[in-house]
Amino acid sequence: MSDINRRFFLRVTGAGLAAGAVPGALKASTNPELYLPNKGDCIAISSGNGVEAVARARKLVMEENMRPVSAAVRGVAIVEADPNDLSVGYGGLPNELGVVQLDSACMDGPTHNAGSVASMEDIMHPAQVAELVMDHTDHVNLVGPGARQFALDYGFKAENLLTDRAREIWLKWRSKRSDDDRLWPLGDTVPADPALADEPRPWGTIHCSVLAPDGNLGCCTTTSGLAFKIPGRIGDSPLIGCGLYCDNGVGSAGATGRGEAAILSGGSWLIVERMRAGDTPEEACLFALRRVAEQAERSAKWQPALWKDGSPNFGLTFYAVRKDGLYGSANMRGSAWFAIADEKGARKEACAVAFK
Ligand code: ASP
Repeated sequence: MSDINRRFFLRVTGAGLAAGAVPGALKASTNPELYLPNKGDCIAISSGNGVEAVARARKLVMEENMRPVSAAVRGVAIVEADPNDLSVGYGGLPNELGVVQLDSACMDGPTHNAGSVASMEDIMHPAQVAELVMDHTDHVNLVGPGARQFALDYGFKAENLLTDRAREIWLKWRSKRSDDDRLWPLGDTVPADPALADEPRPWGTIHCSVLAPDGNLGCCTTTSGLAFKIPGRIGDSPLIGCGLYCDNGVGSAGATGRGEAAILSGGSWLIVERMRAGDTPEEACLFALRRVAEQAERSAKWQPALWKDGSPNFGLTFYAVRKDGLYGSANMRGSAWFAIADEKGARKEACAVAFK
Protein backbone atom coordinates (compact mmCIF):
# COMPACT_ATOMS: atom_id res chain seq x y z
CA MET A 1 0.00 0.00 0.00
CA SER A 2 1.44 3.40 -0.97
CA ASP A 3 1.92 5.95 1.74
CA ILE A 4 -0.97 8.07 0.44
CA ASN A 5 -3.30 5.08 0.16
CA ARG A 6 -2.31 3.95 3.61
CA ARG A 7 -3.15 7.32 5.07
CA PHE A 8 -6.49 7.34 3.25
CA PHE A 9 -7.24 3.84 4.54
CA LEU A 10 -6.46 4.90 8.07
CA ARG A 11 -8.66 7.97 7.78
CA VAL A 12 -11.64 6.18 6.26
CA THR A 13 -11.58 3.06 8.35
CA GLY A 14 -10.43 4.65 11.52
CA ALA A 15 -7.94 1.77 11.74
CA GLY A 16 -5.36 4.21 12.94
CA LEU A 17 -7.53 5.86 15.55
CA ALA A 18 -7.30 3.16 18.15
CA ALA A 19 -3.56 3.32 18.05
CA GLY A 20 -3.78 7.11 18.04
CA ALA A 21 -1.79 7.01 14.84
CA VAL A 22 -3.65 9.77 13.01
CA PRO A 23 -3.57 12.87 15.15
CA GLY A 24 -6.48 15.19 14.44
CA ALA A 25 -8.33 12.71 12.23
CA LEU A 26 -12.09 13.27 12.12
CA LYS A 27 -14.46 10.67 13.45
CA ALA A 28 -17.65 10.00 11.53
CA SER A 29 -20.64 11.43 13.38
CA THR A 30 -22.81 8.94 15.19
CA ASN A 31 -25.43 11.48 16.21
CA PRO A 32 -28.72 9.77 15.27
CA GLU A 33 -30.47 13.13 14.99
CA LEU A 34 -28.48 13.79 11.84
CA TYR A 35 -30.15 10.83 10.22
CA LEU A 36 -33.87 11.27 9.87
CA PRO A 37 -36.15 8.26 9.86
CA ASN A 38 -37.85 7.50 6.59
CA LYS A 39 -41.56 6.72 6.35
CA GLY A 40 -41.53 4.35 3.42
CA ASP A 41 -43.10 6.16 0.45
CA CYS A 42 -41.39 7.20 -2.75
CA ILE A 43 -41.45 10.97 -3.29
CA ALA A 44 -40.27 12.63 -6.49
CA ILE A 45 -40.21 16.43 -6.67
CA SER A 46 -39.28 18.61 -9.62
CA SER A 47 -39.69 22.00 -11.20
CA GLY A 48 -43.15 22.74 -12.59
CA ASN A 49 -42.25 21.43 -16.06
CA GLY A 50 -41.74 17.93 -14.63
CA VAL A 51 -45.15 16.40 -13.88
CA GLU A 52 -44.50 13.55 -16.31
CA ALA A 53 -40.89 13.32 -15.14
CA VAL A 54 -41.80 12.82 -11.48
CA ALA A 55 -44.48 10.31 -12.44
CA ARG A 56 -41.93 8.30 -14.42
CA ALA A 57 -39.26 8.57 -11.73
CA ARG A 58 -41.62 7.32 -9.02
CA LYS A 59 -42.85 4.47 -11.21
CA LEU A 60 -39.29 3.33 -11.90
CA VAL A 61 -38.48 3.28 -8.20
CA MET A 62 -41.71 1.55 -7.18
CA GLU A 63 -42.02 -0.96 -10.01
CA GLU A 64 -38.43 -1.60 -11.03
CA ASN A 65 -36.68 -0.88 -7.78
CA MET A 66 -34.43 1.56 -9.64
CA ARG A 67 -32.05 3.62 -7.53
CA PRO A 68 -33.35 7.17 -7.01
CA VAL A 69 -30.61 8.92 -8.98
CA SER A 70 -31.21 6.78 -12.06
CA ALA A 71 -34.96 7.22 -11.76
CA ALA A 72 -34.47 11.00 -11.65
CA VAL A 73 -32.21 10.86 -14.72
CA ARG A 74 -34.78 8.80 -16.62
CA GLY A 75 -37.63 11.03 -15.50
CA VAL A 76 -36.01 14.22 -16.78
CA ALA A 77 -35.22 12.48 -20.10
CA ILE A 78 -38.85 13.17 -21.06
CA VAL A 79 -38.19 16.90 -20.87
CA GLU A 80 -34.74 16.64 -22.46
CA ALA A 81 -36.36 15.06 -25.53
CA ASP A 82 -39.30 17.50 -25.68
CA PRO A 83 -38.84 20.01 -28.53
CA ASN A 84 -41.47 22.27 -26.95
CA ASP A 85 -39.50 22.88 -23.77
CA LEU A 86 -37.24 25.78 -24.70
CA SER A 87 -35.04 25.38 -21.66
CA VAL A 88 -33.79 21.80 -21.64
CA GLY A 89 -32.12 19.40 -24.08
CA TYR A 90 -33.52 19.16 -27.61
CA GLY A 91 -35.29 22.40 -28.48
CA GLY A 92 -33.46 24.39 -25.79
CA LEU A 93 -32.60 27.99 -26.67
CA PRO A 94 -29.02 28.35 -27.90
CA ASN A 95 -26.10 30.54 -26.85
CA GLU A 96 -25.43 33.90 -28.50
CA LEU A 97 -23.87 32.16 -31.50
CA GLY A 98 -26.90 29.95 -32.06
CA VAL A 99 -25.31 26.81 -30.60
CA VAL A 100 -27.17 24.71 -28.02
CA GLN A 101 -24.85 24.01 -25.08
CA LEU A 102 -26.22 21.78 -22.34
CA ASP A 103 -25.40 21.46 -18.64
CA SER A 104 -26.40 18.62 -16.32
CA ALA A 105 -25.42 16.84 -13.15
CA CYS A 106 -26.68 14.02 -10.99
CA MET A 107 -25.91 12.93 -7.45
CA ASP A 108 -26.37 9.59 -5.71
CA GLY A 109 -27.17 9.61 -2.01
CA PRO A 110 -25.96 6.14 -0.93
CA THR A 111 -22.48 6.54 -2.43
CA HIS A 112 -22.31 10.33 -2.07
CA ASN A 113 -20.99 10.39 -5.61
CA ALA A 114 -21.84 12.73 -8.45
CA GLY A 115 -21.19 13.33 -12.12
CA SER A 116 -21.69 16.26 -14.41
CA VAL A 117 -21.25 17.56 -17.92
CA ALA A 118 -21.16 21.22 -18.81
CA SER A 119 -21.34 23.21 -22.02
CA MET A 120 -21.78 19.97 -23.95
CA GLU A 121 -22.99 20.15 -27.56
CA ASP A 122 -24.96 17.74 -29.77
CA ILE A 123 -26.04 15.19 -27.14
CA MET A 124 -29.73 15.17 -26.29
CA HIS A 125 -29.53 13.52 -22.86
CA PRO A 126 -26.78 15.19 -20.83
CA ALA A 127 -28.18 13.82 -17.56
CA GLN A 128 -27.48 10.28 -18.76
CA VAL A 129 -23.94 11.28 -19.67
CA ALA A 130 -23.52 12.81 -16.21
CA GLU A 131 -24.65 9.50 -14.72
CA LEU A 132 -21.95 7.68 -16.71
CA VAL A 133 -19.34 10.16 -15.51
CA MET A 134 -20.47 9.38 -11.97
CA ASP A 135 -20.52 5.61 -12.39
CA HIS A 136 -17.57 5.00 -14.70
CA THR A 137 -14.92 7.56 -13.82
CA ASP A 138 -13.40 8.94 -10.67
CA HIS A 139 -14.03 12.47 -11.94
CA VAL A 140 -17.03 14.64 -11.21
CA ASN A 141 -17.08 17.28 -13.97
CA LEU A 142 -16.46 16.96 -17.70
CA VAL A 143 -16.79 20.02 -19.89
CA GLY A 144 -17.22 20.98 -23.55
CA PRO A 145 -15.55 18.81 -26.21
CA GLY A 146 -14.28 16.37 -23.57
CA ALA A 147 -17.79 15.74 -22.33
CA ARG A 148 -19.09 15.34 -25.89
CA GLN A 149 -16.35 12.87 -26.79
CA PHE A 150 -17.01 10.92 -23.59
CA ALA A 151 -20.68 10.66 -24.57
CA LEU A 152 -19.79 9.49 -28.10
CA ASP A 153 -17.44 6.89 -26.64
CA TYR A 154 -20.38 5.48 -24.71
CA GLY A 155 -22.53 5.26 -27.83
CA PHE A 156 -24.60 8.44 -27.65
CA LYS A 157 -25.29 9.88 -31.07
CA ALA A 158 -24.40 13.43 -32.04
CA GLU A 159 -27.39 15.32 -33.40
CA ASN A 160 -28.51 18.84 -34.11
CA LEU A 161 -30.40 20.03 -31.02
CA LEU A 162 -31.43 23.40 -32.47
CA THR A 163 -35.06 23.19 -33.54
CA ASP A 164 -36.55 25.57 -36.11
CA ARG A 165 -38.54 27.27 -33.38
CA ALA A 166 -35.49 27.84 -31.16
CA ARG A 167 -33.49 29.07 -34.19
CA GLU A 168 -36.22 31.58 -35.09
CA ILE A 169 -36.32 32.92 -31.54
CA TRP A 170 -32.54 33.22 -31.50
CA LEU A 171 -32.53 35.06 -34.87
CA LYS A 172 -35.14 37.50 -33.62
CA TRP A 173 -33.22 38.07 -30.42
CA ARG A 174 -30.05 38.67 -32.42
CA SER A 175 -31.74 41.20 -34.69
CA LYS A 176 -32.84 43.21 -31.64
CA ARG A 177 -29.83 42.90 -29.38
CA SER A 178 -28.37 46.11 -28.09
CA ASP A 179 -24.93 47.26 -26.98
CA ASP A 180 -25.70 46.63 -23.34
CA ASP A 181 -27.16 43.19 -23.90
CA ARG A 182 -24.59 41.52 -21.71
CA LEU A 183 -25.74 43.63 -18.79
CA TRP A 184 -28.43 41.07 -18.20
CA PRO A 185 -30.65 40.92 -16.24
CA LEU A 186 -31.32 44.65 -16.47
CA GLY A 187 -33.87 45.45 -19.10
CA ASP A 188 -33.03 42.51 -21.30
CA THR A 189 -36.02 41.32 -23.17
CA VAL A 190 -36.57 38.76 -25.81
CA PRO A 191 -39.06 40.45 -28.12
CA ALA A 192 -39.17 37.38 -30.24
CA ASP A 193 -41.56 34.51 -29.89
CA PRO A 194 -45.09 35.71 -29.13
CA ALA A 195 -45.04 33.41 -26.12
CA LEU A 196 -41.93 35.16 -24.83
CA ALA A 197 -42.63 38.74 -25.91
CA ASP A 198 -41.86 41.32 -23.24
CA GLU A 199 -40.62 38.67 -20.87
CA PRO A 200 -37.15 38.88 -19.35
CA ARG A 201 -34.59 36.68 -21.02
CA PRO A 202 -35.96 33.22 -20.32
CA TRP A 203 -34.53 30.66 -18.00
CA GLY A 204 -35.72 27.16 -17.61
CA THR A 205 -34.36 23.88 -16.43
CA ILE A 206 -35.59 20.75 -14.78
CA HIS A 207 -34.43 19.62 -11.37
CA CYS A 208 -35.70 16.32 -9.92
CA SER A 209 -35.03 14.91 -6.45
CA VAL A 210 -36.18 11.41 -5.55
CA LEU A 211 -36.61 9.70 -2.18
CA ALA A 212 -37.04 5.90 -2.31
CA PRO A 213 -39.08 3.88 0.21
CA ASP A 214 -35.84 2.54 1.71
CA GLY A 215 -34.76 6.10 2.52
CA ASN A 216 -32.17 6.41 -0.22
CA LEU A 217 -31.96 9.66 -2.16
CA GLY A 218 -30.78 10.84 -5.54
CA CYS A 219 -31.19 13.86 -7.76
CA CYS A 220 -30.46 15.38 -11.10
CA THR A 221 -30.65 18.75 -12.86
CA THR A 222 -30.52 19.32 -16.61
CA THR A 223 -30.75 22.48 -18.74
CA SER A 224 -29.81 24.37 -21.86
CA GLY A 225 -29.00 27.20 -19.46
CA LEU A 226 -29.50 30.89 -19.85
CA ALA A 227 -30.78 31.70 -23.34
CA PHE A 228 -28.23 33.48 -25.57
CA LYS A 229 -25.46 33.09 -23.02
CA ILE A 230 -21.84 33.79 -23.85
CA PRO A 231 -20.43 30.58 -25.37
CA GLY A 232 -18.88 28.47 -22.66
CA ARG A 233 -20.93 30.01 -19.83
CA ILE A 234 -22.03 27.32 -17.43
CA GLY A 235 -24.74 27.79 -14.85
CA ASP A 236 -25.52 26.16 -11.54
CA SER A 237 -27.09 23.01 -12.99
CA PRO A 238 -23.83 21.07 -13.48
CA LEU A 239 -22.30 22.31 -10.23
CA ILE A 240 -22.69 20.10 -7.18
CA GLY A 241 -23.94 22.10 -4.20
CA CYS A 242 -25.37 24.81 -6.45
CA GLY A 243 -28.02 23.47 -8.86
CA LEU A 244 -28.40 20.22 -6.89
CA TYR A 245 -27.15 18.42 -3.83
CA CYS A 246 -28.12 15.47 -1.72
CA ASP A 247 -26.96 13.89 1.50
CA ASN A 248 -28.34 10.43 2.10
CA GLY A 249 -28.75 11.07 5.80
CA VAL A 250 -30.78 14.24 5.38
CA GLY A 251 -32.40 15.11 2.07
CA SER A 252 -32.01 16.38 -1.46
CA ALA A 253 -32.41 19.80 -3.08
CA GLY A 254 -32.08 21.61 -6.37
CA ALA A 255 -32.57 24.90 -8.16
CA THR A 256 -33.92 26.47 -11.30
CA GLY A 257 -33.67 30.09 -12.29
CA ARG A 258 -30.76 32.47 -12.21
CA GLY A 259 -27.82 30.10 -12.04
CA GLU A 260 -25.32 32.74 -11.01
CA ALA A 261 -27.30 33.33 -7.79
CA ALA A 262 -27.53 29.60 -7.00
CA ILE A 263 -23.76 29.36 -7.54
CA LEU A 264 -22.82 32.40 -5.46
CA SER A 265 -24.97 31.21 -2.56
CA GLY A 266 -24.14 27.50 -2.75
CA GLY A 267 -27.93 27.28 -2.67
CA SER A 268 -28.65 23.54 -2.83
CA TRP A 269 -25.93 22.65 -0.33
CA LEU A 270 -27.25 25.34 2.01
CA ILE A 271 -30.78 23.91 1.85
CA VAL A 272 -29.62 20.40 2.72
CA GLU A 273 -27.59 21.74 5.63
CA ARG A 274 -30.60 23.73 6.86
CA MET A 275 -32.69 20.56 6.74
CA ARG A 276 -29.95 18.77 8.69
CA ALA A 277 -30.28 21.48 11.31
CA GLY A 278 -34.05 20.91 11.55
CA ASP A 279 -35.72 23.09 8.91
CA THR A 280 -38.60 21.69 6.91
CA PRO A 281 -37.86 21.63 3.17
CA GLU A 282 -39.99 24.72 2.61
CA GLU A 283 -38.31 26.62 5.45
CA ALA A 284 -34.91 25.65 4.10
CA CYS A 285 -35.79 26.83 0.58
CA LEU A 286 -37.06 30.15 1.93
CA PHE A 287 -33.94 30.54 4.05
CA ALA A 288 -31.74 30.07 0.99
CA LEU A 289 -33.77 32.58 -1.03
CA ARG A 290 -33.43 35.18 1.71
CA ARG A 291 -29.69 34.52 1.80
CA VAL A 292 -29.57 35.04 -1.98
CA ALA A 293 -31.51 38.30 -1.58
CA GLU A 294 -29.02 39.59 1.00
CA GLN A 295 -26.15 38.67 -1.27
CA ALA A 296 -27.80 40.35 -4.26
CA GLU A 297 -28.08 43.52 -2.20
CA ARG A 298 -24.36 43.40 -1.50
CA SER A 299 -23.55 43.02 -5.16
CA ALA A 300 -25.92 45.81 -6.15
CA LYS A 301 -23.05 48.22 -6.74
CA TRP A 302 -21.83 46.40 -9.79
CA GLN A 303 -25.06 44.71 -10.66
CA PRO A 304 -28.12 46.64 -9.55
CA ALA A 305 -30.24 43.55 -9.50
CA LEU A 306 -32.90 44.76 -7.11
CA TRP A 307 -36.51 45.79 -7.32
CA LYS A 308 -37.54 48.94 -5.51
CA ASP A 309 -38.56 46.93 -2.45
CA GLY A 310 -35.03 45.54 -2.22
CA SER A 311 -35.79 42.07 -3.53
CA PRO A 312 -33.73 40.61 -6.36
CA ASN A 313 -35.12 41.23 -9.82
CA PHE A 314 -34.31 37.76 -11.05
CA GLY A 315 -36.10 34.45 -10.83
CA LEU A 316 -34.91 31.62 -8.64
CA THR A 317 -36.79 28.60 -7.32
CA PHE A 318 -35.59 25.90 -4.94
CA TYR A 319 -37.01 22.39 -4.43
CA ALA A 320 -36.31 20.00 -1.59
CA VAL A 321 -37.30 16.68 -0.11
CA ARG A 322 -36.29 15.49 3.34
CA LYS A 323 -35.45 11.92 4.22
CA ASP A 324 -38.59 11.66 6.35
CA GLY A 325 -40.75 12.37 3.27
CA LEU A 326 -41.53 16.04 3.84
CA TYR A 327 -41.11 18.09 0.69
CA GLY A 328 -41.38 21.74 -0.31
CA SER A 329 -40.39 24.44 -2.72
CA ALA A 330 -40.05 28.21 -2.68
CA ASN A 331 -39.89 30.85 -5.37
CA MET A 332 -38.14 34.20 -5.11
CA ARG A 333 -41.00 36.37 -6.21
CA GLY A 334 -44.59 35.80 -7.32
CA SER A 335 -46.45 32.57 -7.78
CA ALA A 336 -44.85 29.47 -9.21
CA TRP A 337 -45.48 25.74 -9.28
CA PHE A 338 -43.50 22.63 -8.62
CA ALA A 339 -44.32 19.03 -9.59
CA ILE A 340 -44.67 16.26 -7.06
CA ALA A 341 -45.38 12.54 -7.23
CA ASP A 342 -46.22 10.46 -4.17
CA GLU A 343 -48.81 7.87 -3.23
CA LYS A 344 -51.53 10.38 -4.20
CA GLY A 345 -50.24 10.61 -7.77
CA ALA A 346 -48.37 13.18 -9.85
CA ARG A 347 -49.53 16.80 -9.78
CA LYS A 348 -48.49 20.41 -9.43
CA GLU A 349 -48.47 22.28 -6.14
CA ALA A 350 -47.84 25.95 -5.40
CA CYS A 351 -44.41 27.06 -4.25
CA ALA A 352 -44.00 29.20 -1.16
CA VAL A 353 -42.96 32.74 -2.04
CA ALA A 354 -40.07 34.70 -0.53
CA PHE A 355 -41.19 38.12 -1.80
CA LYS A 356 -44.90 38.54 -2.56
N1 ASP B 1 -30.31 27.63 -13.70
C1 ASP B 1 -30.11 27.58 -15.12
C2 ASP B 1 -28.86 28.28 -15.47
O1 ASP B 1 -28.57 29.31 -14.92
C3 ASP B 1 -31.19 28.17 -15.93
C4 ASP B 1 -32.56 28.02 -15.43
O2 ASP B 1 -32.84 27.32 -14.49
O3 ASP B 1 -33.45 28.64 -15.99
O4 ASP B 1 -28.21 27.84 -16.37
